[in-house]
Amino acid sequence: MQKEQVIIVGAGPCGMSAALALQDQGINPLIIEKENITNSIYHYPTHQTFFSSSNRLEIGDIPFVTERKKPIRSEALAYYREVAKRRSLRVNSFEQVVDIKKEKDHFMVYTKTIKGLSRVYQAAFVIIATGYYDQPRQLEVKGEELPHVFHYFKEAHPFYREKVVIIGGKNSAVDAALELHKANADITVLYRGETYSKSVKPWILPEFTALINKQEIEMEFNATIKEITTDQVIYQVGDTKKTVDTAFVFAMTGYQPDHRFLQEIGVEIEKETGRPVFNSMTLETNVEGIYIAGVIAAGYNNNEIFIENGREHGPKIAKDIYQKVTNR
Ligand code: FAD
Ligand code: NAP
Repeated sequence: MQKEQVIIVGAGPCGMSAALALQDQGINPLIIEKENITNSIYHYPTHQTFFSSSNRLEIGDIPFVTERKKPIRSEALAYYREVAKRRSLRVNSFEQVVDIKKEKDHFMVYTKTIKGLSRVYQAAFVIIATGYYDQPRQLEVKGEELPHVFHYFKEAHPFYREKVVIIGGKNSAVDAALELHKANADITVLYRGETYSKSVKPWILPEFTALINKQEIEMEFNATIKEITTDQVIYQVGDTKKTVDTAFVFAMTGYQPDHRFLQEIGVEIEKETGRPVFNSMTLETNVEGIYIAGVIAAGYNNNEIFIENGREHGPKIAKDIYQKVTNR
């Protein structure tokens, strides 16, 4: 069995940032990643432009220089690959952590590789940085499981001249609407809010509202989704039941962290917010030796922690682990 001082679960920007900060303290952690580094960014819409300027996405003080202020997805992927290479990050990719168990003074980490091999590791400290992007927030309405209903938007081209309904009213919904409009899709946005969300980035909102004002995109506010059928979305506005014909549905309803490991090891999760109980100075949870990094710390709120601030968790965690190791 392989023994490690620190195992990090998840090689997103925040897991990688924690690894770099630990290296700075003389600790060389092992990252275990179920696909490959920055897997969430890999799964973003193909033509995604970040809302952050590139310097706000840097980790480990390694410069991220791009011609335009805000990088695109492929530039960010190249940057994070380069960081992993330069700092020789130890990443076991295509290996999923399936269970973590607490023993007296260490943790057992159980994994399964993409080829079905089971492995077991022992670690003194575990940092969970698994993000939220693998678990789309469900509408929990009939028909959500139909094959023409998607929770991820990748590219607009296949939807040329197709009727599409977008559900949601924040950044993913607005970005998808703008892309689909360029591809001549016939778009209806159904949003439960009363008006445009304040979370929508101010530089994309004017283009979106202009298209609605020109009736190039239909938008219905106060819309509660009731059911999705093979060719319609059924929704309610006030007391009125309404339907819209559609060929495809993009439910851009956000994402939720998977709390399974945390709960099984005894980390408490606040019921309302989905926030794990942790010390904000160190990111250590109520279970000694288990830390969290990145968006998982924000619970169900997708608009509180981003790469910009989640990358700051790593140095706090590394400082605390270093102190514990030197005091042992
Ligand atoms: P993630 O990046 O999600 O990484 C988690 C990793 O854990 C993944 O690689 C996953 O494969 C892995 N994993 C999960 N479960 C397991 C397991 N059981 N075993 C092993 N590995 C596992 N933020 C910004 O700051 N600026 C932006 O401009 C910006 N733009 C965005 C655009 C879009 C379209 C989206 C969806 C998000 C954007 N964000 C942006 C948010 C940003 O993507 C997240 O804040 C960031 O990815 C969180 O990093 P993380 O390391 O916490 O989690
Ligand atoms: P989000 O911010 O969580 O927004 C989800 C939307 O779906 C909200 O409008 C929400 O309504 C609605 N919704 C949630 N549950 C619903 C339900 N059960 N029924 C109907 N509507 C529901 O998710 P997101 O837009 O996918 O963004 C996720 C993260 O990615 C955020 O951090 C965001 O900033 C980031 N992002 C960044 C960019 C970019 O950089 N350009 C682009 C896209 C996303 P309410 O408004 O009422 O909450």
